[in-house]
Amino acid sequence: MEFDLNKRHCYYFNEIAKIPHGSFNEQAISDYLVTFAKDNGLAYKQDDKFNVIIDKPASPGYEDSEPVILQAHIDMVCEKNKDVEHDFTKDPLDLYVEDGWLKARGTTLGADDGYGVSYMLAILENKDLKHPPLSCIFTSMEEVGLLGAANLQAEDMHGRRLINLDGGGEVRTTVSSAGGATGLSHCPIRFEASTKPAYALRVRGLKGGHSGALIHMELGNSNTLLARILKELQLQGLDVQLSSFNGGLKFNAIPREADAVFVSAADPEKLQAAIRCSEANIREELEFSDPGFSVIFEPADAEKAIVQKDSDAFLNYMYLMINGFQHRSVAIEGLTAASLNAGVVTTKEDEILIEDLIRSALKTHTDDMISHLKVLAGLCGVTVEIRDRFPGWGFKADSPLRNTLREVLKERGIELKEEASHGGLECSMFKGLVEDMDIITYGPVSQGAHTPGEKLDLASFDRAFDVLCEVLARC
Ligand SMILES: [Zn+2]
Repeated sequence: MEFDLNKRHCYYFNEIAKIPHGSFNEQAISDYLVTFAKDNGLAYKQDDKFNVIIDKPASPGYEDSEPVILQAHIDMVCEKNKDVEHDFTKDPLDLYVEDGWLKARGTTLGADDGYGVSYMLAILENKDLKHPPLSCIFTSMEEVGLLGAANLQAEDMHGRRLINLDGGGEVRTTVSSAGGATGLSHCPIRFEASTKPAYALRVRGLKGGHSGALIHMELGNSNTLLARILKELQLQGLDVQLSSFNGGLKFNAIPREADAVFVSAADPEKLQAAIRCSEANIREELEFSDPGFSVIFEPADAEKAIVQKDSDAFLNYMYLMINGFQHRSVAIEGLTAASLNAGVVTTKEDEILIEDLIRSALKTHTDDMISHLKVLAGLCGVTVEIRDRFPGWGFKADSPLRNTLREVLKERGIELKEEASHGGLECSMFKGLVEDMDIITYGPVSQGAHTPGEKLDLASFDRAFDVLCEVLARC
């Protein structure tokens, strides 16, 4: 299988690989799309976030059909191997083919979601295809929090049927995804001078992972485990006064490491013994999920400490706060229905900030988790701020688009698999804009997204394009 640039979806994939298009660097590719629309005489709109919408009239005979929206994101994740020289803001990707797979030398390929962009361009310029009125939405900044899609308005949705071209592996379609919100808990703190001995307590060795896909796996959260060990010291009557508490890197990743510095007048040997006891207990709980868990306890320097009342209020809040897996779906096997992730804790000058990512397909579950945080916050003198709330995409049994896709695949000997995601997808955003939007997701086989090993199955790239065109012809 070669990468045949005479095929227009391959041609466009090759073209966009020449244009650097990492997240937050989408202007060039966005302008390329605008030029494409002008060259092809198609109506377009480009917004200030570099989203582009290009419309194409129905082919003859399809004028009375309901429009279909196609959608893909134009940004890619920029990852490279350590030994590779590559400037993602300037350099084109170095494409090559190996065993039927398209790859980029030493870097991510941007198949996620370059194949979707290429499909739309190939369809938009083709005068022979049969299809209803089409609206192609090219979104920016998907990989960094669905920021482009979040900028779209209801009037940008030129239809009530949408095919998202970001995933699918030729045989799968997504039927539901989580909505969510960011919860910021502000725990006020004041400092005072301290002459008590200081200690560092560090949680290490946890696996971490994506807070949507892996939250049901009972993986340890370094922030909540660190709070628990400190609380267990207090529960044994040992003096604990925090100087700082920091952990985690991203709100959407289960945190792997956390560090606290505290001062204490307690006997160091008693502290040490109590910590080792907590560590052993937790290690047993995590034996199968996080065997690498460990705790480091060592002397530290701290000339000031958080006043006892504030330190206690934070620790109580952190310890009692709901975290992790909350509910599972009874309709869809293995699907997490609601969760939150205390991803990042940061000690600042006048507050400790806890960043939670709250996820659920159901609005009421999200509301309930927010209420839990707020009620507890009220008891602990903490304030909770909710940001970036986005709707969920709940499962609907009836989907005409899904039926059409199933039928087209069946004729090719493929049984359509349905899957639900506890991650956040752009589809959720579109569902939020048009409540009765019928949505499917589809795409070719690709592997290793977001890593330098990313690759696209070229035979599948052709086949999935053919399936997509056939679905449109039956719409
Ligand atoms: Zn993607």
